[in-house]
Amino acid sequence: MCATCGCSDGEAVHVDDGHRHPHAHEHGHTVRLEQDILARNAAFAKDNRAWFRRRAIFALNVMSSPGAGKTTLLVRTIRELGDRLSISVIEGDQETARDADRIRAAGAPAVQIRTGTACHLDAHMVGHALETLRPADRSCVVIENVGNLICPSLFDLGEERRILVSSVTEGEDKPLKYPHMFRAADAVVLNKVDLLPHVDFNPDRFLRHFREVNPPARFFSVSAARGDGMGEWYDWLLSLSGSR
Ligand code: MG
Repeated sequence: MCATCGCSDGEAVHVDDGHRHPHAHEHGHTVRLEQDILARNAAFAKDNRAWFRRRAIFALNVMSSPGAGKTTLLVRTIRELGDRLSISVIEGDQETARDADRIRAAGAPAVQIRTGTACHLDAHMVGHALETLRPADRSCVVIENVGNLICPSLFDLGEERRILVSSVTEGEDKPLKYPHMFRAADAVVLNKVDLLPHVDFNPDRFLRHFREVNPPARFFSVSAARGDGMGEWYDWLLSLSGSR
């Protein structure tokens, strides 16, 4: 794992074969730094979680690979559910404020975090964004993470639920290749099902692979672009907000 941004790299997944390596000292140093980064993040995440609880806000951490359709899912959700559920959004991208602009155009308040070289959001960034966003009590805060199937799963943001958006253009073996991310999800939204006639993707096989790594999580099949299957997703979000 990279000590700067938390992502996995070759050094970090280095397999120790029992021999002394010239970089042994560096490896040890890297591990300590990673532990410090994650411990520091855990403290900020605890603060965020307490902040949400005091206001009866429920927070979702939405993750996916780049281009799976997180923002499109949120835009339709805000347009169609906005009168029943108060939603505001923290957007994470390496650069640009394009996604926050899309969210605002759909009718919800949004704050954009630009992470620069970092491949994920961390709890400290989210805490600062909340000071600007100032979400209403008893509302829903959606945190759209940086598109990446590895690093974001390591960083607790203080959220109540983790949502993983996957799409039919990505291949049905993604749950097996990125098990940590799929295992960490409370719900998986399989997006772009309108493209199924045009791609070589078997949804049943995807679901079987997903169940191998995460049997209890919720599963939704949708087309955020066309609107298929969104009702079940809305019912789930409303049941989460109603249970507060
Ligand atoms: Mg996006």
